[in-house]
Amino acid sequence: MRRPIMAGNWKMNNTVSESVELVKGLIEKAEGTERDFVVCPPYTALYTVSELIKGTEIKLGAQNIHFKEKGAYTGEVSPLMLKELNVEYVIIGHSERRQYFGETDETVNKKIKTAFEYDMKPIVCVGESLAQREGGIAEPIVKGQLVNGLKNIDSKDAERVVIAYEPIWAIGTGRTATSEQANDMIKFIRSVLAGIFGKEAADTVRIQYGGSVKPGNVKEIMAQSDIDGALVGGASLKVDDFAQIMNY
Ligand code: PGA
Repeated sequence: MRRPIMAGNWKMNNTVSESVELVKGLIEKAEGTERDFVVCPPYTALYTVSELIKGTEIKLGAQNIHFKEKGAYTGEVSPLMLKELNVEYVIIGHSERRQYFGETDETVNKKIKTAFEYDMKPIVCVGESLAQREGGIAEPIVKGQLVNGLKNIDSKDAERVVIAYEPIWAIGTGRTATSEQANDMIKFIRSVLAGIFGKEAADTVRIQYGGSVKPGNVKEIMAQSDIDGALVGGASLKVDDFAQIMNY
């Protein structure tokens, strides 16, 4: 059985004081869970949130990572710095990073390897644009992202990988993929993973859906046979909304 994983991607939202308020509210609502609950604050709030969640059910994720340990990379944050803050998960290759910051399957691949090297678990984002879906090429696009992003990753590391399927047309648009569309693509993703890692290892990989997940649709999404969790943007910014999502 794969343990459900509900992750909040705060994106470029929440100052330190706003982060404190949000995470304190979530800690109370997370007690005694058998699921993984992850918050991914902006870098400036990671330290404070890390201190607050010690000994609680909330786990810490970062929204990005650099693949070098240190050096002349102005503006970047290294795996060593994240590791010291007890960051357990790291979002890699989010479509916004691919679109606005030039991330490619190649950088995704490097970052996944770095995350493993520092004992962090990557949440690897894949997904097609609306034009690609309408053009009937959603599956080959997602397959290419997986095959290239996961190149030379050992199948013994598969169980540490989380994949987030986020159709770009459903992110922040209020337009959710139907739960059947999401489940179908997630089944397809698992079949691609079986080709990469072998079936047994592929069955251990948790695959999330992301894109306009809300308290009102999370139950139906999580009821699907192959969906193991959600990566949540907008609805992870309010205690009540994310608490409902965590405890769907
Ligand atoms: P959304 O974002 O829930 O606001 O659609 C999801 C994401 O981009 O991770």
